[in-house]
Amino acid sequence: MPRYEFRCRSCGSSFEVSRPMARSDEPASCPRGHDDTVRLLSTVAVTGASGGAASRPAGGGGGCCGGGCCG
Ligand SMILES: [Zn+2]
Repeated sequence: MPRYEFRCRSCGSSFEVSRPMARSDEPASCPRGHDDTVRLLSTVAVTGASGGAASRPAGGGGGCCGGGCCG
């Protein structure tokens, strides 16, 4: 089920609502009970944004002074 993001204009909080697409234009109440909300850009079907982070610290390790040979 698609999720839609809303923002409350009364308290300024944003929240997500899961609802059928046919009801995407219906108003939503904010978690604090306000009815003055607006729907933000749809967050539906965001794909491929998360690639694997293949970062690892470079260098380090090895060297003479790591093993106690410099003492
Ligand atoms: Zn509110």
